[in-house]
Amino acid sequence: MATIFSKIAAGEIPSYKVAEDDKHYAFLDINPVAPGHVLVIPRKEESYIFNLSEDEYAALTAFARRVAKALERAIPCKRIGVAVIGLEVPHTHIHLIPLNSEKDMDFSHKLTLPADEMQAIAARIAAEFTKE
Ligand code: 5GP
Repeated sequence: MATIFSKIAAGEIPSYKVAEDDKHYAFLDINPVAPGHVLVIPRKEESYIFNLSEDEYAALTAFARRVAKALERAIPCKRIGVAVIGLEVPHTHIHLIPLNSEKDMDFSHKLTLPADEMQAIAARIAAEFTKE
């Protein structure tokens, strides 16, 4: 059975897309810990990031790096934080989070932003990604 993130990458479930290539997809976390919180996934279904092959892992982190560069241009912040948790959704994903303080990486405090704000954030990141 396809994972929820596979369905998102296939466009079967809506998402706020920020970037994609043939093997990867990046979209806004539906309950961000900070505005601009992005999830980067491989299209391949693998639950645990360290079960990817070396090549798959390298390609995923290289794609996440490109997304992070777009994210830091789109969302003013001090740094882009990186996290891998994976306790909720069994499909490898890298969290990229614009940080101004340590508190912006608190996964016990999630936000729900209005749809128009999510759409505007995603559009800003997507525009920066395509400028590369
Ligand atoms: P983790 O598996 O890393 O513990 O957490 C999964 C993350 O995916 C959470 O931050 C959660 O808000 C996000 N998430 C779960 N379901 C969906 C969904 O259907 N759409 C989006 N955009 N994000 C989701």
